[in-house]
Amino acid sequence: MSNIGVLIEISDDGVKEANFGVLTAAHGGGSHVIYAFVCGVSADSVVGALQEYGVQKVVELAVDGVDPASNPELLSAALADAINHFEIEALLGLSSASGRDILARVAALTGSPLLQDCVGIDLTSKTITKSHFSGKTVASIKVNSNPFMCSLRPNTIEAQTAPCTAEVLNYDTSAQTSGKLVVKEVKQSQSKTVDLTEAAIIITGGRPIAAPDNYKILQECADLLGAAVGASRAAVDAGFAPHSMQVGQTGKTVSPKLYIGCGLSGSVQHFAGMKTSKIIVAINTDKDAPIFGKCDYGIIGDLFEVVPALTEVLKEQG
Ligand SMILES: Cc1cc2nc3c(=O)[nH]c(=O)nc-3n(C[C@H](O)[C@H](O)[C@H](O)COP(=O)(O)OP(=O)(O)OC[C@H]3O[C@@H](n4cnc5c(N)ncnc54)[C@H](O)[C@@H]3O)c2cc1C
Repeated sequence: MSNIGVLIEISDDGVKEANFGVLTAAHGGGSHVIYAFVCGVSADSVVGALQEYGVQKVVELAVDGVDPASNPELLSAALADAINHFEIEALLGLSSASGRDILARVAALTGSPLLQDCVGIDLTSKTITKSHFSGKTVASIKVNSNPFMCSLRPNTIEAQTAPCTAEVLNYDTSAQTSGKLVVKEVKQSQSKTVDLTEAAIIITGGRPIAAPDNYKILQECADLLGAAVGASRAAVDAGFAPHSMQVGQTGKTVSPKLYIGCGLSGSVQHFAGMKTSKIIVAINTDKDAPIFGKCDYGIIGDLFEVVPALTEVLKEQG
């Protein structure tokens, strides 16, 4: 039995859904002891959710009594210390902006190997899977050292419950930092929209969206589905959406359970960022559009008719 650490990300609603797939990977069918590292909330408030996914130890981190949640330097120092203290063999996290940042810092502090944006992991054989060259090749990487850090692309590993009873631990370290990073203020985002890279459902509008305001049609549907809204590069280049919404080779890589592409031709570059989606639905007016050869379900129709109709049905269903 080896000890596997998981850095848990928290949102306003508690434990982020995307963590559960990472916990399933860490659980490995029950052959490892999972340590869930939390900060920013009390361990007691999240233990119920975490123990449903096989977590045996929930560790609330502090540095000299201070919650390290808002200071990446402090948090990574606390994690590096905790890895040593709890004899953690691998630290897993989400391949989110924050997860990638923190795991890279911990890898540097502990002199450990770092694998980012992985799509699979077998902790028994220590083999990690990574998608390369826009998904054209898949690399299997064997790790030969302890500990190692690995961030997993959200939603690539299906979450499976593995209920158990977890112990709550408080670990207050006196980890040293350079003090170069000082957090002066933490501002909450005004936006309540779902993060694109972690969303379980994404609805994307391409070039025919034609105006920034028309994304409201997608947003209304997305709000009912609990989805995030994305854009193609053609739409971004035309000024209809910000680059932060772009999916694809030069945009974000996403892996939702459901991807609804509205007015997308199905370019290789767009697919590079979303081809690992579980189910792809395409809405396109052209029955010969390449996307119809790459999707699971296709609707030949005008997005300005199909999406509002879907929204109406969702509203009726409450
Ligand atoms: C180096 C490089 C990097 C790139 N990176 C990216 C990237 O990260 N992301 C990305 O998206 N692209 C990227 N591209 C651009 C990519 O090649 C395509 O040009 C782009 O993806 C096309 O966007 P689109 O599908 O929205 O538009 P189009 O190719 O113009 O397709 C629009 C589709 O909408 C259909 N349509 C028209 N009207 C309607 C309607 N009312 N309702 C429904 N369907 C309708 C049309 O039949 C058509 O199939 C990159 C290109 C290069 C060279």
